[in-house]
Amino acid sequence: MGTRKKVHTFVRVKPTDDFAHEMIKYGDDNKSIDIHLKKDTRRGVVNNQQTDWSFKLDGVLHNASQDLVYETVAKDVVAQALDGYNGTIMCYGQTGAGKTYTMTGTTENYKHRGILPRALQQGETNRIIASHTMNKNSSRSHCIFTIYVEAHSRTLSDEKYITSKINLVDLAGSERLGKSGSEGRVLKEATYINKSLSFLEQAIIALGDQKREHIPFRQCKLTHALKDSLGGNCNMVLLTNIYGEAAQLEETLSSLRFASRMKLVTTEPAINEKYDAERMVKNLEKELALLKQELAIHDSLANRTLVNYDPMDEIQIAEINSQVRRYLEGTLDEIDIINLRQIQEVFNQFRVVLSQQEQEVESALRRKYTLIDKNDFAAISAVQKAGLVDVDGHLVGEPDGQGFGLGVTPFSAKPGKKSKSKKTFKEQLSSSARKEGASSPVSGKELDVSTSKTQLTPSSKEGDVKDMTIRERETSSIEPLPSDSPKEELRPPRPSTPPPKPVAFEDFKNERGSEINRIFKENKSILNERRKRASETTQRINAIKREMDVTKEALNFQKSLREKQGEYENKGLMIIDEEEFLLILKLKDLKKQYRTEYQDLRDLRAEIQYCQHLVDQCRHRLLTEFDIWYNESFFIPEDLQVALKPGGSIRPGMVPVSRIMSLGEDAQDKFSQLQQVLLPEGPDSVAFYNAKVKTEQKHNYLKTMMGLQQAHRK
Ligand code: ADP
Ligand code: MG
Repeated sequence: MGTRKKVHTFVRVKPTDDFAHEMIKYGDDNKSIDIHLKKDTRRGVVNNQQTDWSFKLDGVLHNASQDLVYETVAKDVVAQALDGYNGTIMCYGQTGAGKTYTMTGTTENYKHRGILPRALQQGETNRIIASHTMNKNSSRSHCIFTIYVEAHSRTLSDEKYITSKINLVDLAGSERLGKSGSEGRVLKEATYINKSLSFLEQAIIALGDQKREHIPFRQCKLTHALKDSLGGNCNMVLLTNIYGEAAQLEETLSSLRFASRMKLVTTEPAINEKYDAERMVKNLEKELALLKQELAIHDSLANRTLVNYDPMDEIQIAEINSQVRRYLEGTLDEIDIINLRQIQEVFNQFRVVLSQQEQEVESALRRKYTLIDKNDFAAISAVQKAGLVDVDGHLVGEPDGQGFGLGVTPFSAKPGKKSKSKKTFKEQLSSSARKEGASSPVSGKELDVSTSKTQLTPSSKEGDVKDMTIRERETSSIEPLPSDSPKEELRPPRPSTPPPKPVAFEDFKNERGSEINRIFKENKSILNERRKRASETTQRINAIKREMDVTKEALNFQKSLREKQGEYENKGLMIIDEEEFLLILKLKDLKKQYRTEYQDLRDLRAEIQYCQHLVDQCRHRLLTEFDIWYNESFFIPEDLQVALKPGGSIRPGMVPVSRIMSLGEDAQDKFSQLQQVLLPEGPDSVAFYNAKVKTEQKHNYLKTMMGLQQAHRK
């Protein structure tokens, strides 16, 4: 396949008592014929004409049996056809030279049978060739036999099969008109035949010329019929039948010339492979079933119980979604790997959760802030009028071009007197916009709490869960305990080095944070209880589903039995037996159970989501309170705390306490340095200190918001 092959050319000489030994000579290897024409032998041959020719061929068959001819000429072509290669064998030559004898042979003697019956035999078709078929063709007409081969593998499973065809062509006599002496109708016929043979020649010459692109196949019926059998992708053999007698030498020469032209033609044999789609599907189904069995065996060997490899249903996907959420929250340590499908679904649900959270973050931002599109000039100018941004679109006080989304705090949230607060605002921004890469606010990572992740959940579920609504109120009603609470007064004197946070956190939970910690724990246990119920419900649903499947199968079996028997059908009324009836009832009941359980599960999920939200809030609160407490206890100078107290020199609201506490670690370090360098004497420096704290606060705060906006943009 893929390599070019020459047309094989053979010459068969018809046996004769009068062989022209002086004129026809064969090469030693039997692969060439030399013709020598005596100058005066024939009329019309002028003295100065060429008298010697040599023709190279693939073989000369002299006095060859039908058997040998088949072996030499046809056997390989037929064998290759059975492997999927098209093949063409043509007999060419003057009338009476033995074309028909070669191609079909005689029926009288089995030994004399020709290429056609032998080819059918080789293809294992013991088809009898009727004698009329063999004799019907006149020597003036062409005769093309086509054998179509379609070979399927003996092993039924093979979905590949091959198709090919073998063209056996017995051409009409090639003799020129002058010689045949035909007249009238016969003459017309002979002219016609020669014409088609010359078209055949033209086509063959074109095929032999590698540069020719157009091959004139359509010129006559013969070339048209042989279009895909001449050249192209098939094996091709030309057998030239000649007389060995001197009287026919001119025709013999002409036939040999045709053969030598034919030798120039090359073909590129290729297999005609096809696929049996139906068989392929069947094979794949079989393979699939086998692999499933194989998996089951592996599972049982690995002591894994009944893993389901089928596509997942809605409930299973919902379960995975909840696993992913719990994993992200830190309440689930790991997600067990079950199978490939499940792993893929886990990743899928990660994506789902991520995009939901992005939306939630955005909507949370929108709830709290007015976000202005930087390209929305109308909006910007409105804000400018309100004095919140300068002409360049920067927030008032922003010193350089480092832009960020315009997160404008609602007016109501602005602390203190308007004039003063505006200045403060400027101060805050002037430092915040300059700084980059300050550390993030204190996270809960090093604490004894699995994660400090904030989950923003939609707030639409409130009406659904009464129990949790109450709890939410409890949670949100907790305010930071006043700093002059009796507990604080009982606290031992401040140590010179602060305790490690994990240790301090334990103290905090028993001390000032005990109430919120109690609520946090309570909420968590409620959440866990709901989760447990959801998981149980899921299991019940799966069990019901399994039973439904079994029942359906049994029902189908009953139905098919009834249809086979058919005897109970009466005037369109179906009469079913008790067993089938009971199965129908059972299925109906199961469906009802399924629906109920499914509804329960959905409710539970809503509840879980809501509880989760509350637990997250509580956790956040716990951590924030802890930070406040920790900073107050170990970092903020006592005199400042006095100033921060109600009635102190710093008015409540001007420096929101919670913001002080969102200082990052680095900021805290700086804080203590500041404390040492700039605040050696206390109260007099409070004003500066105050401003500095606010600036740092604002910076951290803005940085967080920018981070959120960036995360959302991605
Ligand atoms: P064509 O088809 O080329 O016109 P045929 O095959 O009809 O020629 O042959 C003419 C006659 O010669 C037939 O009677 C045929 O049996 C006989 N003949 C041709 N070739 C051979 C051969 N190789 N051996 C024996 N008889 C032959
Ligand atoms: Mg014939």
